[in-house]
Amino acid sequence: MIFSPSDGAPPATSPWRRIVPFVALLALAILVTGAGWLGYRYTYDAALARQAERGQVQMRLYAQALESELARYDYVPSLLSLDARIDALLRQPAAPGRVAQANDYLAALNGRAGTRVVYVLDARGKVLATSNHQRPDSYLGEDLSFRPYFRAAIEGQLGRFYGVGTTRSESGYYLSAPLGDRDKPLGVAVVKIGLEPLENRWQGNDSQMLLADENGVVILASDPSWKLAALRPLSPEQRQTLDRSLQYNRAPLPQLALSMVRPLANGPAQGGDALVRLRQGPPMLAQHLALPGTDWDLTLLTNTSQARVAALNSAALAGVLAAFVLLLGAAWNVRRRIASERLAARAALEAANSELERKVAERTADLSASNHLLQAEVAERTRTEAYLRQAQDGLTQAGKLAAVGQMSAGIAHELNQPLAALRTLSGNTGKFLARGDYDTAQQNLEKIIGLVERMGRITGALRSFARNPAAGQGHAARLADAVDNALFLLDTRVAAVAPRIEREIAPHLVVACDPNRLEQVLVNLIGNALDAIRNQPAPLLALHAYEAGGMVHLTVRDNGPGLSEAAFARLFEPFFTTKPAGEGLGLGLTLSAGILNENGGNLTAINHPDGGACFTLALPPAHEAPRHVG
Ligand code: ADP
Repeated sequence: MIFSPSDGAPPATSPWRRIVPFVALLALAILVTGAGWLGYRYTYDAALARQAERGQVQMRLYAQALESELARYDYVPSLLSLDARIDALLRQPAAPGRVAQANDYLAALNGRAGTRVVYVLDARGKVLATSNHQRPDSYLGEDLSFRPYFRAAIEGQLGRFYGVGTTRSESGYYLSAPLGDRDKPLGVAVVKIGLEPLENRWQGNDSQMLLADENGVVILASDPSWKLAALRPLSPEQRQTLDRSLQYNRAPLPQLALSMVRPLANGPAQGGDALVRLRQGPPMLAQHLALPGTDWDLTLLTNTSQARVAALNSAALAGVLAAFVLLLGAAWNVRRRIASERLAARAALEAANSELERKVAERTADLSASNHLLQAEVAERTRTEAYLRQAQDGLTQAGKLAAVGQMSAGIAHELNQPLAALRTLSGNTGKFLARGDYDTAQQNLEKIIGLVERMGRITGALRSFARNPAAGQGHAARLADAVDNALFLLDTRVAAVAPRIEREIAPHLVVACDPNRLEQVLVNLIGNALDAIRNQPAPLLALHAYEAGGMVHLTVRDNGPGLSEAAFARLFEPFFTTKPAGEGLGLGLTLSAGILNENGGNLTAINHPDGGACFTLALPPAHEAPRHVG
């Protein structure tokens, strides 16, 4: 549909047309970003899941190492319950040499087992003997009844406890067991193990391993600075309890600034895998594993930068793919639209074509009908033309006859005069012969011969004028001769009017026309001029010939009254005449124009500026010599 300003309704879609590309670009950007985000998220999560699997394996290995390390010393406290020196000490601590014996035994055991300290407490929690008895900071005699491992063992259970030593602030793992009867122990055996060798094995580049105890306090860490930090917030009551038990020897236990980024779906529901961040650092994968047989919890923190790089690559790839697919879709859509437009255009073209063909068929039918009509008309015209030609020929002849008729009075007068003279001369000649006057008779006879010749010329001219054009004399006429002959034919009328005749006709001018026909034209034109100047005081007949524009022209001018408006309008109409009945038929100019046209010429008329009519005939020049007309 084409809109034009005159439609009144401006195209309502034009603002939309401007907005649509922006909307399309925006949609493209959103889709590409969405695809990129999905690609990023999917790859990131998948990479994290793989990383978590590796982490699980690593943690299990660590846990097994830890368990076996701790289990290595399980036997030590039980071993003490079997020893007679320890038993003796517990039963009679004050007996001389008991303590020294026990101390030596414990020192020897400690050295062999590779533990940090081994000591024995009595039932009230007082240290009776210790492997470090020789050191100045020895526990000997100390009251450790507040220690949880003592309480557990005195109640008949095995105690496991991580704590910081009160004397030397040395951290370690305490294992305790009741000595003597389980229900009523005589004392408690304690062994302290250092976990540093494990810690040293944990130190890696990419990951951080933390071991938190039942209080959520880090007791082992691949990064030593994290040690004795709280993984979860400690309530004031908890802190008080810990202060009382001196478990961490009043260490400040700062809160580790680990913040949750988001939990991961693949991890176990509680304490599962999660993305965490340490202060403003990059996100890390946090994984947990509960250590079997303890309340301890292993935490593995691994760097996620590789997963992020992989995710960013996937995001870029997904974005590029999405853009490619969308652009492909857009290109396909454009192509489909072009194809449908092309189909529509083809259908429209075919419709227009068939419409055109229908119209052409209609027009052809119309045209052939008109053609038949035209052919019929042409045939009619041809018939009419033949009829007209016939009529014109008839009229030509009639015109000639009319001229002959007009001339007949003059001719009769012309012939009567020599006839009367002939009668008189012949009568006189007879008398002169009778008298013997032969000279005079001879003169009369010569006059008679002259008169007869003149009469012969008159009738000859008349005969040749009236002759039918079918017996034409050829197609070249000398203009001067034709004018002479016309003037001769009109001699009587010329003599009657007696005009001043101006004549300028070069003898070499020859025109392509039958001489008789040309004379007929000239007789008409000169005759009309004579009629016009008949009553003029100083009648003038001017005949001038000249060549111009490849034609020979002859003007026949008079100083008569000239042509009226009405005469101009109807001059070449047949039977138009202003002359009285019997003098004019109104055919002269019509026939003259016809003759000139037939011979490739024409006839024009104007009123001369000095007065009178001026007719100009024009004919093509002839290239053959004229035949003499007698
Ligand atoms: P006709 O001489 O028989 O009338 P023409 O066809 O020769 O027929 O002339 C038609 C008319 O044109 C004349 O009747 C006359 O009115 C006018 N006409 C022709 N020649 C002249 C002339 N030289 N001067 C004035 N009028 C003329």
